[in-house]
Amino acid sequence: MELVVATKNKKKLKEIRDIWKNLGLEVSSLADYPRAPRIIENGKTFKENAVKKAVKTARFTGKLTLGEDSGLCVEALKGRPGVYSSRFSGRNKSDPQNNLKVLRLLGDLPPAKRKAYYICAVALADQDGVVGVVEGRCDGRIGFQPKGTSGFGYDPLFIIPEYNKTFAQLGERIKHKMSHRFHALEKAKKIIEKYIEGKKSG
Ligand code: IMP
Repeated sequence: MELVVATKNKKKLKEIRDIWKNLGLEVSSLADYPRAPRIIENGKTFKENAVKKAVKTARFTGKLTLGEDSGLCVEALKGRPGVYSSRFSGRNKSDPQNNLKVLRLLGDLPPAKRKAYYICAVALADQDGVVGVVEGRCDGRIGFQPKGTSGFGYDPLFIIPEYNKTFAQLGERIKHKMSHRFHALEKAKKIIEKYIEGKKSG
């Protein structure tokens, strides 16, 4: 069965394909549907944005579709950057600029006050509407400088306490077994399995 992932973000898509490499689904993306409608991410929550991406794209493709919205929430910043994670540094946004802004705002707060978590919302939809919505979370803390080269986004800042290393230092093998995306996809897998079962039994 084909599953369309409603994203143009190559790094996210790579992570989803890697985490689900044994699921037996043919994973396509918006790169395969260049005429799919543009989605404006103006939701107030990750779930709202994920649903919007899934429903709009499923209506266009007629296929089972996965919408994903994710980001970083820093406790000392009252949950910011949150749904604004990808554009935190404004017009000339980039991952390094976003990271610098977080570091600047946290200043020299001690490690105990640098707690943060990633959230990943995943919505599944087909041409008839929403099939399910789930969320995954991963807890950590923000370092004092970027470290490591793996992953994307805020990974060079995001320290996993049990390793005392950032996701960018730990690499894909470890990240993809404990990330917010992994936890959301584990829940989404169960919904897809039921969905396929339902289709088979008519
Ligand atoms: P979205 O495309 O609006 O969902 O933007 C997600 C943004 O959140 C990314 O551009 C990153 O800044 C951040 N983000 C989400 N997931 C991750 C992750 O796994 N690692 C690092 N940053 C992430």
